[in-house]
Amino acid sequence: MSEELFKKVVSHAKEYGFVFPSSEIYDGLGAVYDYGQNGVELKNNLRQYWWKAMVQLHENIVGIDAAIFMHPKTWKASGHVDGFSDPMIDNKDSKKRYRADQLLEDKIARYEKDGKTQKAQELQLGLDQALLENNLGQLKSLIEQHEIVCPISGTRNWTDVRQFNLMFSTEMGAMAEDADKIYLRPETAQGIFVNFLNVQKTGRMKIPFGIAQTGKAFRNEIIARQFIMRMREFEQMEMQFFVRPGTQKQWYEYWKEARLKWHHKLGLGDSKYRYHDHVKLAHYADAAVDIEFEFPFGFKELEGIHSRTDFDLKNHQELSGKKLQYFDAELDENGKPYGNYIPYVVETSVGLDRLFLSVLCASYKEEEVGEEDKKDTRVVLTLPPVLAPYKVAIFPLTKKDGLPEVARKLMDELKLDYTCFYEEKDAIGKRYRRQDALGTPFCITVDHESLENQTVTIRYRDTMQQERIAMSKVKEILAQEISWGKLLV
Ligand code: ATP
Repeated sequence: MSEELFKKVVSHAKEYGFVFPSSEIYDGLGAVYDYGQNGVELKNNLRQYWWKAMVQLHENIVGIDAAIFMHPKTWKASGHVDGFSDPMIDNKDSKKRYRADQLLEDKIARYEKDGKTQKAQELQLGLDQALLENNLGQLKSLIEQHEIVCPISGTRNWTDVRQFNLMFSTEMGAMAEDADKIYLRPETAQGIFVNFLNVQKTGRMKIPFGIAQTGKAFRNEIIARQFIMRMREFEQMEMQFFVRPGTQKQWYEYWKEARLKWHHKLGLGDSKYRYHDHVKLAHYADAAVDIEFEFPFGFKELEGIHSRTDFDLKNHQELSGKKLQYFDAELDENGKPYGNYIPYVVETSVGLDRLFLSVLCASYKEEEVGEEDKKDTRVVLTLPPVLAPYKVAIFPLTKKDGLPEVARKLMDELKLDYTCFYEEKDAIGKRYRRQDALGTPFCITVDHESLENQTVTIRYRDTMQQERIAMSKVKEILAQEISWGKLLV
């Protein structure tokens, strides 16, 4: 999909109530977005898809919902106060700030696009090396060597590369003098780590086990771009899997595979996903891989799987002075219990907003329909039915003759189980098109014949085929077509 089509997806998202810029009447707020009436349904359904796969289908994974505010020491222990920063560079003419690594990545993508494979490889190597050594001077040299210009000013008048902490801070406490600096969490994971023993003890969990959580995270991203791809307030879905030290590699491989399978089941096309193994590991990891998705602007990270060692629990134990250990009663090869230890952790972390964007981009289709002399384009979102904001739209053909009453009665029977859309205005074709644009998989039309023989017309979104069926069969058909089993099994 081209950049041009991506623009269409963004405007479609706004026009059809999926995503709005935040506080739009004040011209918006940088990299903050609101989900509209249809977006919230799709987002909730995606969250459910994740929760069901991770929590409901694993008896050894449970969920929590930790607070966004956490004790400030949390972020000292996690390494975020000292190390959660991005290398940034300013262009002196445009006064615009960029992430140095991203300027270089964009250049690599451009080399690749122009068929300059060797140059792309060389630069990738240099970038990996600079990031690995945290060498800011080297990043600046690469920007100079590859003659990277500011997209706004077009000049190469750059500052040095500096580190910039991404955490938002605020104050807690009623009186200014009592105020204490606290942070808005930059990831949900730490809420899981600090609750590790609470959950393990109260849930009588045995290693290996996982704790899952979905919720907001905040990062003062230097550059915000590509719509909901990189936001300053976003939602993560994270799972920390606590394992016996020494077994982390095996669990890392397990989750790496399991998570890719989960993405594939969305049916957006397996070739749209790929792994990207990390060369530069975060301060807490002994192995890390991204699952990347082919967005219209190229392959980008969608999910991270990290083998986080015992880094977090160990640091929290040290800084809090509270033991965060597990007693493993299982016997080792010498017949002795494994005993007390700090577990190792394998983490899976996916951004809900990026997932939303991946689904939206891949499901957005423009199709030519109609006969030779009456060709037309329809916009359709081919969402998996179970994820669609509305599962079924119900239309009385006309507003009179008792048709609305019959349609409403049918809707009353369905709305407990399915999100239903009711509409009686406009020609039927127009109504169908509006539902196509929302991704509604089924439309049901009640007409005069319905009054005579209790049948309705069901229209399928993807094939646009229509079928006459008994009204009493509607529920059965919907149950067959709209099921979590289609995604989860
Ligand atoms: P990136 O390299 O793109 O900044 P990251 O490696 O910092 O991402 P993680 O810290 O691993 O990301 O976070 C896990 C997931 O959270 C990412 O895979 C992504 O889907 C999502 N995510 C991270 N930052 C953002 C953001 N600013 N906006 C939206 N989603 C985000």
